[in-house]
Amino acid sequence: MCGIAGYVGYKVATPFVLDCLQKLEYRGYDSAGIAFTQNDSLCRLRVLGGVDNLKRAVSQDVIDSSVMIGHTRWATHGRVSVENAHPQMSNHHDVAVVHNGIIENFDNLKAELQSTGVTFESQTDTEIIPNMIHNNLTGYTDTQILDALQKTTRRLQGSFALCVLVSKVDKIFATARFSPLLFVKSDYGFMVASDLGALPNGEKYKLLDDYFAVISKEGISFFDKDMQPVTLQKLDITNTQQDEGHLGFDSYMAKEVSQGGDAIRNTCKNLIESNALDIACTELFTHTFRIVITACGTALHAGRILGYMLQKECGIECVIDYASEFRYFPPHIDEETVCIFISQSGETADTLSCVEFAKTKQARTLGITNVPTSRLAGMVDYCILSSAGAERAVASTKVLMAQLAIIYMLVQKICKILNKSCEFSFKDILDCANKLDRLKSVSKLDKITRILQHKQSLFVLGRGLDYLTALEGALKIKEVSYIHCEALPLGELKHGSLALFNNDSYCIVLMTQKHLMAKTINNIHEITTRGAHVILITNMDVSVDVDYVIKIDCQDTLSPIPAIKVLQILALKLAKIKKIDVDKPRNLAKSVTVE
Ligand code: GLU
Repeated sequence: MCGIAGYVGYKVATPFVLDCLQKLEYRGYDSAGIAFTQNDSLCRLRVLGGVDNLKRAVSQDVIDSSVMIGHTRWATHGRVSVENAHPQMSNHHDVAVVHNGIIENFDNLKAELQSTGVTFESQTDTEIIPNMIHNNLTGYTDTQILDALQKTTRRLQGSFALCVLVSKVDKIFATARFSPLLFVKSDYGFMVASDLGALPNGEKYKLLDDYFAVISKEGISFFDKDMQPVTLQKLDITNTQQDEGHLGFDSYMAKEVSQGGDAIRNTCKNLIESNALDIACTELFTHTFRIVITACGTALHAGRILGYMLQKECGIECVIDYASEFRYFPPHIDEETVCIFISQSGETADTLSCVEFAKTKQARTLGITNVPTSRLAGMVDYCILSSAGAERAVASTKVLMAQLAIIYMLVQKICKILNKSCEFSFKDILDCANKLDRLKSVSKLDKITRILQHKQSLFVLGRGLDYLTALEGALKIKEVSYIHCEALPLGELKHGSLALFNNDSYCIVLMTQKHLMAKTINNIHEITTRGAHVILITNMDVSVDVDYVIKIDCQDTLSPIPAIKVLQILALKLAKIKKIDVDKPRNLAKSVTVE
């Protein structure tokens, strides 16, 4: 969350920083701002809303500085306002800071600063940082500034990526702990950003925890925890995270939903070409007694499907939990346990905390992520990468498809290792991906969208695997259409929720599991008898009295792939008809780097 950008070079910094911020905007879009050096002092410009507003404000000024930091905010402390937007400055306006993360002990530090006369104009946790740096400054050499920064960060608890400007110094000083910060030496100058994909081509580096960087016109220098100069390893990867724009679609989300099939095919192809899956499976699953899976949001839904498959197809006991709850209900974990962590960005703070917890218990760890340079990829014993390309919309769609490809291939491999038969083949997964491309024009969804747009509340229901699909469908719908949408196991309805149903209620029912057909049809009758309406998504030819039937073509075990795509399209259509910006759903942001 929060995008940080910075530029130092021989050119005017503004276009580089604004372009970079625009690419980081999915990390936060409450407010945005820049700070830059000009005639020995620091200037700053902050606006409410996204980077377009910042661009408009910038165009009214002549800013020819070649040293600049920028920020696009997702507020954690302090409401959305110009005063709370970053960069935050010291009382003396000699230090400006952009921050990604949360300072957990900011209250105490703020009180301490207030007792020495420092005043605060924002409610953020960030504003203490420029003031502490100011108090620790003994001069303006690199060593003195780095020393002030280190003295400050030593007292901070929580997570942060920080870029700092000090007046009269044409350099950016940076440091990070539990938050990503990447650097590039490019033909145009030197840059820093929260994400690899936001940076131009060139030699790229990732900062390690509690390391420091100084970016000047001459280059970037890195320093370790003891402030010794270090050479960081160049990131040796093809940048899979380059932003390719909308490609003619009206939003990133629409484009990414349409790329679900490609995400599956590319992931399968890369898994076959690399031996990552084979190695991980042989090392981790030959003697495994139990598996713990944890993740957040859409990735957790992928995890639930993985757990279901591992139990059903491989007969391995699985515990699955929200990463944010995991530590409060800690399952039994030891060296015999394999812990699996799934995160699109690989930077999800709650998930990363669970990795740390699992490591203290000597568990073996496997990560599934879409970002090879992510913290998750570096923390786990084995990492399996999805190959969905950059996902920019806040609502995750194509990366989930890629995660499902990994899940099905993983389950298949484990079945092989354990000498068990598997219900689906590699060819079945590819067939399913190919059929996904033909799903595009589900014309009935337009009619359904026109009805559902006026609803305050919806239900997505199913049994077994269909319930897991329902969880993801409901999340997608509420995320981008703002309609309250609840997923429930069908059998649970009569234990309470059926009380809400009347002839104005709409339910989306999933029925893709033949062995559960009879019970599902009974439940549909229970719903329609109460006057409620049913939209049925099924892969079966059945005659059942519902309002709409949407047919999908797939075998039962692979049904989450097409069924989720239908629900993604419905969510998109609902957002569009309600004129909601799907790429920037309110109150949300992508890459949740705070707990
Ligand atoms: N805690 C800071 C703020 O609210 C930064 C937020 C973030 O990184 O998400 O302004």
